[in-house]
Amino acid sequence: MSAAKNLCWQTCFHLRRHMPAHLAPWRVSPCVFRSSKSELKPNIASDGLVYAPLQTFTEEEAMLKDMVTKFAQERVAPFVQKMDENAKMEESIVQGLFEQGLMSIELGEEYGGTGASFFSIILAVEELAKVDPAVALVCELQNTLTNKLFTTYGTEEQKRTYLPRVSKDTLGSFCLSEAGSGSDAFSLKTRAEKKGDYYIINGSKMWISLAEDAGVFFVMANTNPSSGYRGITCFVVDRNTEGLHVGKKEDKLGIRACSTCPVTFDNVKVPESNILGQVGQGYKYAIGMLNTGRIGIAAQMLGLAQGCFDRTIPYTKERVQFGKSVFDFQGMQHQIAQVATQLEAARLLTYNAARLAEAGRPAIKEASMAKYFTAEVATLTTSKCIEWMGGVGFTKNYPIEKYYRDCKIGTIYEGTSNIQLSTIAKFLAQEY
Ligand SMILES: Cc1cc2nc3c(=O)[nH]c(=O)nc-3n(C[C@H](O)[C@H](O)[C@H](O)COP(=O)(O)OP(=O)(O)OC[C@H]3O[C@@H](n4cnc5c(N)ncnc54)[C@H](O)[C@@H]3O)c2cc1C
Repeated sequence: MSAAKNLCWQTCFHLRRHMPAHLAPWRVSPCVFRSSKSELKPNIASDGLVYAPLQTFTEEEAMLKDMVTKFAQERVAPFVQKMDENAKMEESIVQGLFEQGLMSIELGEEYGGTGASFFSIILAVEELAKVDPAVALVCELQNTLTNKLFTTYGTEEQKRTYLPRVSKDTLGSFCLSEAGSGSDAFSLKTRAEKKGDYYIINGSKMWISLAEDAGVFFVMANTNPSSGYRGITCFVVDRNTEGLHVGKKEDKLGIRACSTCPVTFDNVKVPESNILGQVGQGYKYAIGMLNTGRIGIAAQMLGLAQGCFDRTIPYTKERVQFGKSVFDFQGMQHQIAQVATQLEAARLLTYNAARLAEAGRPAIKEASMAKYFTAEVATLTTSKCIEWMGGVGFTKNYPIEKYYRDCKIGTIYEGTSNIQLSTIAKFLAQEY
């Protein structure tokens, strides 16, 4: 032990031994040492690992990011206002996402994918969300839910059948929520009854993203209600299957270009081979997917907030009141600096969660923190941006009010903010 370390230990020991009894409540609880394990035992990088700031990208990631920025500016931006007004996604955009490989970022080349990193998905979602968070959602869901479900749990046959389709032109939809089961997702009522080597699915799902155009649905249904959530099984159901009905899309506050529809299953007959993974394991798959999906939603919120900020600050520098730009007032600068700091923190949380997930390390708590925090930051940023723009920020002549509407969904889907906080608290309860 070095002399300095030794002295420190001696001092601590001395202080603790001689702590007056009346100061006992201030004593450091043994919990503190337990809970700060992560600080005391940092993850040691093995030889050869380079310590790089979180905002360091591989060459491939940097190239993909630039490509998406260009795509968003050239192919998405011209349609954003119209898509929001009409609540309809422009077909050429989805087609473009497929053509550019942005719907199959992590998928192997043998399935028509790009074979890039999970982090690349995060960068792509962030860049798209800067321009249109609804378009970012299409990319996010396809990459983090649809493709991931097939690659993680699909049989070879399912992979061969579906992966070339979902990387080329077919959207997937994830059907978990129902009218009576949102946060309490596993109390779902959709049933799948076994009849020989077929299952018959009956039930109604709600809030299903992309359902209007999806070609394949992942349907969570209970095959054995007496086992509770352990009966939940995931079925792959093609859109044209008899008895599957996509209802009228919701008229939403934000991300209006993305359809959100009810989907009903009326005696839908699917062969046993359409089960994804194992019978009764659907709840685990849903949890697993949503855990990584949340990092994608964090990226969506981050991009949304940054896009809004980037559109606003130049205006504050141009807008003159009292003989100078409104940016030059200290009262404005302090607010802008605070939001910029929040944005930076949100980015670091998101990137860290993504890098952890990519490395196969535990990231559930970090993903919840990232989703929760970025949704808060997006809410703050978009609200402040409207204020900084004054009256024009409140009109549809500028895109700021759209970002303000779009951000609200970040506190709701893939687990509400309260659910994220409960997840974080569950980890804290174990750590302390
Ligand atoms: C635009 C949109 C797209 C969606 N896309 C999909 C999709 O593709 N697939 C899919 O399956 N679902 C989807 N959803 C559903 C979404 O995941 C649910 O809306 C969400 O989980 C919340 O459920 P809920 O709406 O029933 O709210 P509720 O669960 O009824 O929550 C209402 C309030 O109660 C709070 N609350 C509930 N339980 C607790 C608790 N234990 N502790 C503290 N507070 C609690 C919530 O935080 C919330 O504030 C989508 C929803 C929307 C709006």
